[in-house]
Amino acid sequence: MKRRAFLEVLTKSVSAGMTVGWSRLEGSAGIMTVTGPIEHGKMGFTLIHEHIMVDFVGAGEVGPHRYDARQVIDRALPFLSQLKNEGCKTLVDCTPAFLGRDVALLKQLSEASGLYIISNTGFYGAVEGKYLPGFAFTESADQLAKHWINEWKNGIDDTDILPGLIKIGVNRGPLNTMDRKLIEAAALTHLETGLSISSHTGNGLAALEQIIILEEHKVNPRAFRWVHAQNEKDKEVHLEAARKGAWIEFDGISENSMEEHIQFLLNMKEHGLLDQCLVSQDSGWYHVGEENGGNFRPYTYIFEVFIPELKKGGFSKKEVRKLMIENPRRSLEIMIRAN
Ligand SMILES: [Zn+2]
Repeated sequence: MKRRAFLEVLTKSVSAGMTVGWSRLEGSAGIMTVTGPIEHGKMGFTLIHEHIMVDFVGAGEVGPHRYDARQVIDRALPFLSQLKNEGCKTLVDCTPAFLGRDVALLKQLSEASGLYIISNTGFYGAVEGKYLPGFAFTESADQLAKHWINEWKNGIDDTDILPGLIKIGVNRGPLNTMDRKLIEAAALTHLETGLSISSHTGNGLAALEQIIILEEHKVNPRAFRWVHAQNEKDKEVHLEAARKGAWIEFDGISENSMEEHIQFLLNMKEHGLLDQCLVSQDSGWYHVGEENGGNFRPYTYIFEVFIPELKKGGFSKKEVRKLMIENPRRSLEIMIRAN
């Protein structure tokens, strides 16, 4: 199905106020990648939280003048090809606007590597607003949502590339005014577009507060991914958020944290909540401003070490499939999850 026709199906269904009708019309829900929409069954093995490029310079100075796109491609492509060779099909790039999001570059890398790559709309409010544009401080949640909805309808920057999710970032709870505004804007955007929400979240309290705000806006927490849930060490909070319907994303897998990630997953499994867990590595990336992009962490640790360790830890093949294929697919499907 062509992109335009897919969008018409989505838009019609969304404006009709029903769960996005793509599933009824086409047999499955849709996913939006930087190279266009795909049927969700095509996603395959998915890394739900990684980065290809990040620029930490701040919203005031960030922009394409800061890097040479050719050099970024040359540096990142071998890592993406290596990932593809391991059997990964889809990578979600979680770099938001004002932190180095460049969707044209992602599209080139997707075509060159053969991976589906998914980008995002939204703003990152953590780190005291360093990555927020000035207007984010004065505009309302409703106005912010309009920018994000516009990216979904008309494309990101000057391209026709559309976001596949909403990515925001909030500090530790209790949430400040800006944090609350961002999750509110995400709720409003979700209700218009069916895009699911990834929120970089400071701690468990901030996760629970965001869930309450979503519910106040009649958004079902199934639309919400609690990003960096591993930073909350109290496993009870993981359970509490999952029982409210949220996705619990343990996304910092590396050699230093592997054991802890497995323990968190075992706890979720014991409580019958593995259906709401996601795993990823938050790895990569080309660091803008550093010599040849600085230290680029490969994306393949999860294949080489983590999955074999999960199996040794008692996770069945079916459970690994759930974590790496089925849960990401269900979580990223474009559909309105309204209460
Ligand atoms: Zn990240």
